Amino acid sequence: ADPRALLLSRIRDVPDYPKPGVLFKDITPLLADPVAFTALTDTLAELCRRNGATKVAGLEARGFILAAPVAVRAGLGFIPVRKAGKLPGATLSQAYELEYGTAEIEVHAEDLTAGDRVMVIDDVLATGGTAEASLQLIRRAGASVAGVAVLMELGFLPGRTRLQPALAGAPLEAL
Ligand code: 5GP
Repeated sequence: ADPRALLLSRIRDVPDYPKPGVLFKDITPLLADPVAFTALTDTLAELCRRNGATKVAGLEARGFILAAPVAVRAGLGFIPVRKAGKLPGATLSQAYELEYGTAEIEVHAEDLTAGDRVMVIDDVLATGGTAEASLQLIRRAGASVAGVAVLMELGFLPGRTRLQPALAGAPLEAL
């Protein structure tokens, strides 16, 4: 069965969070529903298999919650892509633009190898800046990109368009 209607029904719109004028998509009702969370995990794990992924990367913080069970379900390793300064080992860092200022994400270089095909998972694709930076990190680590899979894409923002060059033909799947 197509889980999309179920997933959509478990996402809560929170007005004016984290600041006035923003309509925040809250996934905690979905996480609290075991049927919906399992449906999401199974769907994302199937996407990993279909696209030949060898590793699953989660983007801090909500991406971790989704990507870790997907990795286990798909029988693949999990790679945390973290905000700068959180990983203890030798890292690769990638800076990217925010609405105001810049942010930086990191990955442990030794956790990815040349033969890896990485599926990047996050809850929401907004401007695409975070996902774009993660794809640059994966390529700089010598691995290739199996795709990007998100629960939601905010269609009124140009995230999909922004991500195209970094995807280089790999799929962007938004459930
Ligand atoms: P982007 O880099 O695409 O602009 O922002 C995506 C990141 O911001 C994701 O890691 C996502 O978790 C977070 N994000 C942005 N807007 C929302 C939202 O409305 N709901 C949730 N849950 N996360 C959001």
